[in-house]
Amino acid sequence: MTYTPDSIRSITLSTLRLPLAVPISDAKVFTGRQKPMTEVAFLIAEIETAQGFSGHGFSYSKRGGGPAQYAHAKEVAGAAIGEDPNDIEKLYTKLLWAGASVGRSGVATQALAAIDIALYDLKAKRAGLPLSKLLGSHRDSVRTYNTSGGFLNASLDEVRDRATQSIEEGIGGIKIKVGLPDSAEDLRRVRAVRDHIGDAMPLMVDANQQWDRATALRMGRRFEDLELVWIEEPLDAYDAEGHADLARSLDTPIATGEMLASVAEHERLIEARACDIMQPDAPRVGGITQFLRLMTLADRAGLDLAPHFAMEIHLHLAACYPREPWVEHFDWLDPLFEERLETKNGRMIVPDRLGLGITFSDQARAWVTESVTIGE
Ligand SMILES: [Mg+2]
Repeated sequence: MTYTPDSIRSITLSTLRLPLAVPISDAKVFTGRQKPMTEVAFLIAEIETAQGFSGHGFSYSKRGGGPAQYAHAKEVAGAAIGEDPNDIEKLYTKLLWAGASVGRSGVATQALAAIDIALYDLKAKRAGLPLSKLLGSHRDSVRTYNTSGGFLNASLDEVRDRATQSIEEGIGGIKIKVGLPDSAEDLRRVRAVRDHIGDAMPLMVDANQQWDRATALRMGRRFEDLELVWIEEPLDAYDAEGHADLARSLDTPIATGEMLASVAEHERLIEARACDIMQPDAPRVGGITQFLRLMTLADRAGLDLAPHFAMEIHLHLAACYPREPWVEHFDWLDPLFEERLETKNGRMIVPDRLGLGITFSDQARAWVTESVTIGE
């Protein structure tokens, strides 16, 4: 058998805003840096090929940036038309350099992420495989923990109720937000949740970058007896030295990386030995092509992996990491998709559907505010 090259016929880009059920606050709201979050912007890329294959992917932005991602994708996507969709590395490089004047990280590469993810979805569908199997999987399910129930806008009673509900749904860990102006209140909430879920249930905390070095060390020491799985984003995402000092000073593992927008930014963290657990985000670092590079670097550095947000994509990627990873459970994106991911005995099951195994819902289509088809 021989391969006949295919070619990209069209790329349809759409932008939509997903409304959240309640305004969401983490520590950044309490330090006055951000307003409560009420919606998440999405950039969807849908690719069609001459041989009749199709794939879709998405990128996202919380608060600002959604319109910029859409505009950048719209400007550069034409460079992919007529190319073989299987040459993902070549396509990524071509699209990257088409917009390199505004940088090879951040909004520019987040715009490419939607296209890159769509190319992987397409390739897996062509191969007749789920994405994890195309990439080469280590496992068919991944440990999962819930984040969406533990934000700072929720009362302690609500946080406890949501934790109970998550555990009943087969989600195997609970993460709660910290970084309130009153540290005593943080401690009270974390201890109350630990008492509520018991010592055996994995528990994490997340300060969303809002502590200074002294506060992070003091709080980290106070949390040591709670056997946390990790302390997430204790410091500013770019403070590699501060994270490294903290990681050396505490027994509790340090996790960070969700706010970094390129492989190069993550490399800085790895070189500084800034964390025990890396938390890259495929849409944020520019897609799956970039994420796969990070997985190789993280594994070589002996780090654990807990990708940030977008479980619909990260479940497949985490399944391919050599060390036992975690995937973050968020129910926020459920209205966008027809399918639901199954959780059981603390693990999220990798779907056996082809590609990413997701289809956009009618509701997602109804939320689209702008759309353009490039090519044809
Ligand atoms: Mg986080």
